[in-house]
Amino acid sequence: MRVGIGYDIHRLRPGGPLRLGGVDIPCDKELIGQSDADVLLHAVTDALLGAAALGDIGQMFPDTDPANRGRNSAEMLHAAQQAVHAVGWRIGNLDCVVSAQRPKLLTHRQKIRERIAEILDIDAECVGLQAKTGEQVGPVGREEAITAQCVVLLLPQEDDASEDVS
Ligand code: MG
Repeated sequence: MRVGIGYDIHRLRPGGPLRLGGVDIPCDKELIGQSDADVLLHAVTDALLGAAALGDIGQMFPDTDPANRGRNSAEMLHAAQQAVHAVGWRIGNLDCVVSAQRPKLLTHRQKIRERIAEILDIDAECVGLQAKTGEQVGPVGREEAITAQCVVLLLPQEDDASEDVS
């Protein structure tokens, strides 16, 4: 098996909605970036690519390529999942931490978990999501940015067959 870690940070600006984990959350702030700035999906994408030693999201989708401007991060995550799958791995589970002073993510947690699971074609039970505030200090606490972290476990695809038999 293989483990991977991903981290990302994006700045906030007045606007909305807030795109997080592939879900548009009602908010008076939005994330800024070259793509749609979905900080959570970027962390998951990097964790997947890292676990399979396939580089990172910036290598797969260079910010110098105009085609990546405003790109839907769900597309990027799906492409990473396909790349990981192509070299013989499948996802065991993943766990994420989002640090955001606002909005409260508790009421959106299930929807985000289900959306990430849908993009990755796995069960939502395999997607953990923890929500933290910034304790009103630092860029997160001052509502200047949101950060996300993710760890993912990859398992060899050949395990599929033995599991089906048992
Ligand atoms: Mg990013």
